[in-house]
Amino acid sequence: MRDRPTVDDVGTAVYTVPTDTPEADGTLAWDTTTLVLVTVRTGTTTGLGYTYAPAATAHVVRELLAGTVTGLSALDVPRANERMCRAVRNAGLPGVAAQAIAAVDIALWDLKARLLDLPLVALLGAARDDVPVYGSGGFTTYDAERQDRQLRGWTEDEGIPRVKIKIGESWGTRETRDLERVARARASIGDAAELYVDANGGYTGGQAARAGDALADQGVTWFEEPVPSDHLIQLADLRRRLPMDVTAGEYGYTLPYFEHMLAAGAVDCLQADVTRCGGITVWLRVAALAHARGIDVSGHCAPHAHAHAAAALPNLRHLEWFHDHVRIERLLFDGVLDPGGGSVTPGADGAPGLGLSLVAERAEPYRVQ
Ligand SMILES: [Mg+2]
Repeated sequence: MRDRPTVDDVGTAVYTVPTDTPEADGTLAWDTTTLVLVTVRTGTTTGLGYTYAPAATAHVVRELLAGTVTGLSALDVPRANERMCRAVRNAGLPGVAAQAIAAVDIALWDLKARLLDLPLVALLGAARDDVPVYGSGGFTTYDAERQDRQLRGWTEDEGIPRVKIKIGESWGTRETRDLERVARARASIGDAAELYVDANGGYTGGQAARAGDALADQGVTWFEEPVPSDHLIQLADLRRRLPMDVTAGEYGYTLPYFEHMLAAGAVDCLQADVTRCGGITVWLRVAALAHARGIDVSGHCAPHAHAHAAAALPNLRHLEWFHDHVRIERLLFDGVLDPGGGSVTPGADGAPGLGLSLVAERAEPYRVQ
């Protein structure tokens, strides 16, 4: 093809948004969330991508990636992704660099779809129209009333038939309260909705096995990171012992990480985060690894960064409709998706790319870089 469009410019912006109330899971607490936005431009067409990561991520984009990508074909995203991975060799790919690459990669896919005037799902090729979501929040900082209100908001107001709460409070030292909160969650949502829990690696192996039996009594069907996700043997052991699905993968930054997790038999459903693992280019490869083993994939957080790619997967379980990120994406972007009934339909409105546009006047008060 002659006269291929090339990437003319790569830009960054950083937004730090306070949470609506202090949030914590089993092993971390926070009261703000930072979104690093990347824009890539070809002529008058601009694509956007983002990651939830420290502001330093934007610096990595500017210092190590922008010069690497500028001048490349805007149609050849895998080439740009590979060049970026090589450019960060000495900085270290896992972590901030992979998140920086992810944001640029997502922006490049958005740009290409816009250049072709297609929703991104149409460019990738759909395997499904509807992408199931699950409501995710239930922070350990919530009191009973707030947890109940959030859960009923998903199940009763929005019709989402699956929800997740955090457990493993204070590194697993509040197990009694964890189980009380799970029982209250079941009472809030009734028997018809699925109940998931996420310990964020807060339990020890034996503790997770004992808690797992109690969680099974509440009909919990998803036990995420019962132990730290690097402990693949413990995950595999819990997977064999417990009736519910054992899941992990949100801290995967490279393709071999996911291969090791799958090869260890550590998960029933593989979680992968498109904003961490190197973008849509790598996320699709992660899904192929899982598909080859008969394992489903669930998109971790950042739902609007995942939705179009998720619709391209034959082995998609669902996306995480994460309270903190949904709130930020609704604040910063026009074109957000409606999870009513328990799924989103990316590309249904025909808008090109991810279908998102930054609303500058709403975003500007939160801009820190
Ligand atoms: Mg998690």
